[in-house]
Amino acid sequence: MTRLHGHPDRFVEEALEGLVLAHPDELRRVDGGVIRRHPIAPGRVAVVIGGGSGHYPSFAGLVGPGLAAGAVCGNIFTSPSSGQAFRVAQAVESGGGVLFSYGNYAGDVIHFGEAERRLREDGVDARTVLVTDDIASAPLAEADRRRGIAGDLVVFRVAGAAAERGEPLDEVERFARHANDRTRTLGVAFAGCTLPGSSEPLFTVPDGMMSIGLGIHGEPGIRDVPLQSAPELARILLEPLLAERPEGARSRVSVIVNGLGAVKYEELFVLFRHIAAELDAAGIEIVEPECGELVTSLDMAGVSLTLFWLDAELEELWRAPAYTPAYRKGVVSTDRALEPDAEVVPEDIRVPTESRSVPAASVEAAKWALRLISAARSDIADEVDELGRLDAVAGDGDHGVGMLRGLASAADAADATGAAAGVAAMLEAAGDAWSERAGGTSGALWGAALRRIGSSLGDADAYSADDVVAAVAAGLDGIIELGHAGVGDKTMVDAFLPFNETLARAVDRGASLPDALRSAADRARSAAEDTASLSPRLGRARPLAERSVGHPDPGAVSFAIIVAAAADETQAGAVAGAATAPIPADEGSD
Ligand code: ADP
Ligand code: MG
Repeated sequence: MTRLHGHPDRFVEEALEGLVLAHPDELRRVDGGVIRRHPIAPGRVAVVIGGGSGHYPSFAGLVGPGLAAGAVCGNIFTSPSSGQAFRVAQAVESGGGVLFSYGNYAGDVIHFGEAERRLREDGVDARTVLVTDDIASAPLAEADRRRGIAGDLVVFRVAGAAAERGEPLDEVERFARHANDRTRTLGVAFAGCTLPGSSEPLFTVPDGMMSIGLGIHGEPGIRDVPLQSAPELARILLEPLLAERPEGARSRVSVIVNGLGAVKYEELFVLFRHIAAELDAAGIEIVEPECGELVTSLDMAGVSLTLFWLDAELEELWRAPAYTPAYRKGVVSTDRALEPDAEVVPEDIRVPTESRSVPAASVEAAKWALRLISAARSDIADEVDELGRLDAVAGDGDHGVGMLRGLASAADAADATGAAAGVAAMLEAAGDAWSERAGGTSGALWGAALRRIGSSLGDADAYSADDVVAAVAAGLDGIIELGHAGVGDKTMVDAFLPFNETLARAVDRGASLPDALRSAADRARSAAEDTASLSPRLGRARPLAERSVGHPDPGAVSFAIIVAAAADETQAGAVAGAATAPIPADEGSD
């Protein structure tokens, strides 16, 4: 359990503040995470790592020369928001582009993916290399679905060393990918971990047993077997790892024996001793191993074994010096005295304070958008419990509160843009606020959708129904691009696709926008109901897929509620004569 905290809700914040205070010459706190105290040299690639907290020294302790330029730090076991990832990357980017690297988890992929897109939009070259080393999480044939665990260190180190030596972004990315391809990990848990402020562990392992295939977020292992001695455990871990020796790998490996948080170093050394003996017997040479706590899972009792199959170029990078709070190797030359001590001004959620002059049509459209968001917020408020109940069937039960928090934040941020704001700026602010505050997968996706809708509408002098159709399609594209959901995966996309199709067809046939929205919203409602027969193939509900059959997807249901509110509100506006055309097509003027 966690004994020391001020307030459990501030645990991550206080831990990061303390870490930076304890390493004042190495780290600097920025909005979203921590970065190096001294900026990276101009033109160098900025390697940005991250994920949820609770894994120290990953990720904040691995920031420094030879490793990451910055770490994005989410809440305990929770993906950071896209805004956090974007701001940390912006704070460290130095002209050479950004390489994001993190473990392959849906929430992280969505949030970091959106940050990557935003960086590109701002003219910064940004790439991503996912870490997928956990062999227990998917078969080899589906290696790209595997989770990232202790192999994080390997990929971060290789990318960081390549960036340090001045390799361009293409090369840093290539080395990192290559390192990931050659890294395999398997772990066992002896006891679960407990969230700060909670008294119960997230899972338990029966007495006298161990759980093979642990996750690092309190996910239990995939099978429980009787507890084994160190030599036996060495064999249990090595055998499947050796069976997956990558093609072309010779006989030099680096080995990481990683403690998950509550296993003594002496025990790790005992295990390492037996692993070394086994590898020696197999004719495999160990190069610069690591044995200690590198990627933890709060106070989980468990260990993992990573094999990193070296070749000449990877070995050179693996051996390169590094200097971070938690990982030091060789001698790093930092011309610290010469480095400028630039203040980093973190960018807050973008709420334009000054009103740029935008066409009147865009200002009118913004007012319309705000009315729709407010209407959706109040309709979702009525369904919070029901959405939570649906999400609890196979997910984590937070969908109702998450959606309400997202919509409320979006409405507040949109409102704060002021009466003179255009629709593009307003929806950008609303989308940012939604993804930043809502949490969860749906928050990231809705936030991105709003941003896309806003930028598709832009600040035009007039809008037609076709423009609205195009903007809705852009929103859908954003969700698919980030979440990769297809038809039948049982997500909100199963309601959004038919909505989009019906809307486009109705407008094409000459229907008024209010009428077209009405029929599209009706179609979305029945499509959402139809998701009941599906089995989820994506998201948090996937592992408990069978339980979900017979119940509609919560994200599809909330989508239908939102578009129904939008249709009602648009119709009401039209009937009241406020807008016969959906968005008043006033002559724009500055
Ligand atoms: P979380 O799953 O992170 O707790 P929520 O509970 O707020 O997030 O949202 C769950 C909903 O998100 C699901 O019902 C589904 O509609 C949607 N969702 C999950 N993953 C995806 C995805 N990859 N693409 C589109 N929608 C998704
Ligand atoms: Mg949920």
